[in-house]
Parts: sequence; C-alpha cells; structure tokens
Amino acid sequence: MGIIKAKDLVYEYIRRDEDGNVEGINTAVDHVSLDIKQGQFIAILGHNGSGKSTLAKHMNAILNPTEGTLWVDGMDTNEEKNIWNIRQTAGMVFQNPDNQIIGQVVEEDVGFGPENMGIPTKEIWERVEESLRAVGMYEFRKHSPNKLSGGQKQRISIAGVLAMHPKCIVLDEPTAMLDPSGRKEVIRAVRGLNDVEGITVILITHYMDEIIHADKVFVMDKGKIAMEGTPREIFSQVEKLQELRLDVPQVTLLAHELKKQGVKLPDGILTTKELIAALGI
Ligand code: ADP
Ligand code: MG
Repeated sequence: MGIIKAKDLVYEYIRRDEDGNVEGINTAVDHVSLDIKQGQFIAILGHNGSGKSTLAKHMNAILNPTEGTLWVDGMDTNEEKNIWNIRQTAGMVFQNPDNQIIGQVVEEDVGFGPENMGIPTKEIWERVEESLRAVGMYEFRKHSPNKLSGGQKQRISIAGVLAMHPKCIVLDEPTAMLDPSGRKEVIRAVRGLNDVEGITVILITHYMDEIIHADKVFVMDKGKIAMEGTPREIFSQVEKLQELRLDVPQVTLLAHELKKQGVKLPDGILTTKELIAALGI
C-alpha cells in the first residue's frame, strides 16, 4: 500500500436551510480511488469546485469520508486513534500563508509544530535550522514574519510543516495568492523537499506550468478523477484539457497547432526548450 491510498472515496456536503432541514446534497468527491507511492511528486489539477480541496482535507483527516476509505501510511483516517499520527505523517500547507503563521519571529513559528509534539528543545532547534535551510529561509530566522513577502511567508509555512518530519506534504494551491516570483520560489522549495529530502509531495494547483516536474498528475472534474498520467501524457490531450476548462500552457498549445498543420512534433511538448529542440532551430 502506498503512502496515501483512497478506495472509492465519497464526500458529501449536506446543505441545510436556516431551520436545519436538508436542502440538498453536494457530492464534492465522487468515488475517487488512488494510490500514491512514498517519494512521488504528485500534482492534482482541476477547475474551481472540482473537489481538490475536499480530497486534500481527507489526507490530513480534517474531513472523514461519507463512503469509502482513505489510508495515510496504512492508517485508516476513519479511526479516531490514528488522527495524531496521520497529522504527523501528512502535513498540510494551505493557500493563505497569513492564516498559517502564528509566531512573532520566524524561527519561533517554525518551532511550534515540533514543540507541540513534545520534541526535546535541542532537537527542536536542529529541526528549525534544517527546515529553514531546506526552503532557503535560514537567513530570515530572526525576522518578523509580518514583514516578509508572500512567497517568503509561504516558505516559512512549509518549513513549519517540515519541522514535524512528515513523510508527505499536501499543498493546497500554495501559490494561488503569490506573484510570479513568489510562485517560483515556493515551487523551487517544494521540488527540493521531494528531490533532496525524499518527501512525498502532493501539490494541488491550477497553474499548469507548476506540474511539469510531477511524476504523476491527476485531473479532477466534478469530484471524479477525469484524467491521470505523466505530465507529458496529460499535456498530449489538449482538447480534453480545454474541455475540462484548464489553461493549457502557450508552448503546448503552439506545438499542438503546429502538429495539426502537419509539422512533425512529438506529443505533449512541455517547455519552450523542448519545442525549439524538436523543431531543430
Ligand atoms: P476545489 O478545491 O477543486 O475548488 P472544493 O473541494 O473546494 O473544490 O469544492 C468541491 C465542491 O464542494 C464544490 O461544489 C463546492 O461548492 C462544494 N463545497 C466546498 N466546501 C463546501 C462546504 N464547506 N459546504 C458546502 N459545499 C462545499
Ligand atoms: Mg480548493
């Protein structure tokens, strides 16, 4: 069994009126099955409302399945006794860094997680240092988080999760509120966690350019997994992506159009560099 495994996972939000009567049921996750191996870099794509966040919240036992099962490192999230271990195994990073930072000083903030876990003080400081170095924020350890940029704050949130030594990090649109340079910083840091530290990464995003380094991509639509494959397999299906209302990168679109015009090109061109190489110019 992989680090995250879902079997026929269903989650329904129940809508109620002011008197508490059930008005309707919204099936946000609809029979999702997946198996994510330790050490993989997984991207989850999908239009707004496709169920990505609802699925992610199951990976941290914030939500429990209406039907089906989700296991984190073999632990069933439905079992109350597993919750503490599940939250240490799979850390979560959310969209808005301002809601995740609580400390007045960067290093203090990063130390909160391990402190709550009862880690001895000396080891907390070691973890804080190693986590801040891993996201390239060590030189800011004495700063006040309030004065940092969005990308820097988000890297501090990631360091805070890292300091708990999780096997897996789930990031729910961590770059959605950032400018392009902040987005790049965060994605670079996330790739480092996976490449260097061997941590399983589950990155939820709607930016297609952030997924090109993923081992595997899942595309969600209306609560279901609509597509799955390598980035290249996914990007080879331009029409399907457009049907699912996803923005295909310019270079992939261009290659797709050229191919339609008869230019000989491989499927699923991901970068400008690849297109130039394939065109032999
Ligand atoms: P995504 O993260 O892909 O945008 P979500 O998981 O947030 O998707 O939402 C999936 C569906 O569930 C949407 O139709 C959304 O409106 C609905 N939904 C999300 N959160 C709630 C909630 N707290 N109460 C009721 N419906 C919700
Ligand atoms: Mg979401």
